[in-house]
Amino acid sequence: AEIEKVTLNNGVQMPRLGLGVYKASDGEEVGRAVHEALAAGYRMIDTAAVYENEEGVGRAVRQAEVPRDEIFVTTKVWNDRQGYDETLGAFEESREKLGLDVIDLYLVHWPVTGKFKETWRAMERLYREGKVRAIGVSNFNVHHLETLLEDAEVTPAVNQMEFHPFLTLPELHSFCREKGIQLEAWSPLTRGRIFEEPLIQELSEKYGKSPAQLILRWDLQKDVVTIPKSVTPERIRENAHIFDFEITKDDMRRIDSLNRNHRFSQDPDTFV
Ligand code: NAD
Repeated sequence: AEIEKVTLNNGVQMPRLGLGVYKASDGEEVGRAVHEALAAGYRMIDTAAVYENEEGVGRAVRQAEVPRDEIFVTTKVWNDRQGYDETLGAFEESREKLGLDVIDLYLVHWPVTGKFKETWRAMERLYREGKVRAIGVSNFNVHHLETLLEDAEVTPAVNQMEFHPFLTLPELHSFCREKGIQLEAWSPLTRGRIFEEPLIQELSEKYGKSPAQLILRWDLQKDVVTIPKSVTPERIRENAHIFDFEITKDDMRRIDSLNRNHRFSQDPDTFV
């Protein structure tokens, strides 16, 4: 099935499901994962400078049978490269490693205190120069976004956050909706840690879908773009088969009620 798309606040179309490649090693491993994903219908890859696999991702994208303009590539500026000049330099390095003229989405990886506004200035420049089709942020809580929006000329198109049934970020989600910022889920599967949750098991059986598929479908129905990671061909395919069923409103609410504001990874308010 074709993967549905969402229209971002600047008119750019973004697939609602993509392949995450954190911890996929550069070269063969990541290349094979991208290849498998494209064959399974994925049209979006989520990498970052800090993942150290941009070269492998870029090579696989350039060598793919799928035309370049049908693939949405996201990368991110890492924390030690924030600030205006640093970000411009980091972008050029990422672009060179990827070997792509234009990056579809460039994200500020974390809101580095005292620096992220200057970083954003550079992102806006890259956007105006047409080097990126959209710019966004990651790990920005409401107060980070408020600070950014005080004098931003371009509203972020996307905010990529840790997001899953144990962490549904209701306040941030409605804030982003209000501002036209698309929420995107990282660690959508909690790296498998909530597959055993009784409700997930129960609904997985009810819908005849795996826990991973159930959770990814829940993302879609919450209007959250999702980027599960796998380098295993069967799982890559499994994670894309989520456009052929629908979770009822009632079951959506039951999954929502698993929220316990629990982060498995770092909290943006204390990490940077
Ligand atoms: P994830 O929740 O996507 O879990 C991935 C892991 O779950 C896999 O390694 C595999 O062990 C397991 N898995 C995947 N599919 C499965 C299936 N169908 N059945 C059983 N197990 C399965 O975790 P993630 O990698 O942390 O997050 C996804 C992507 O989000 C990353 O690859 C990266 O691109 C992005 N990310 C971004 C940030 C950020 O700060 N912006 C942080 C972490 C991750």
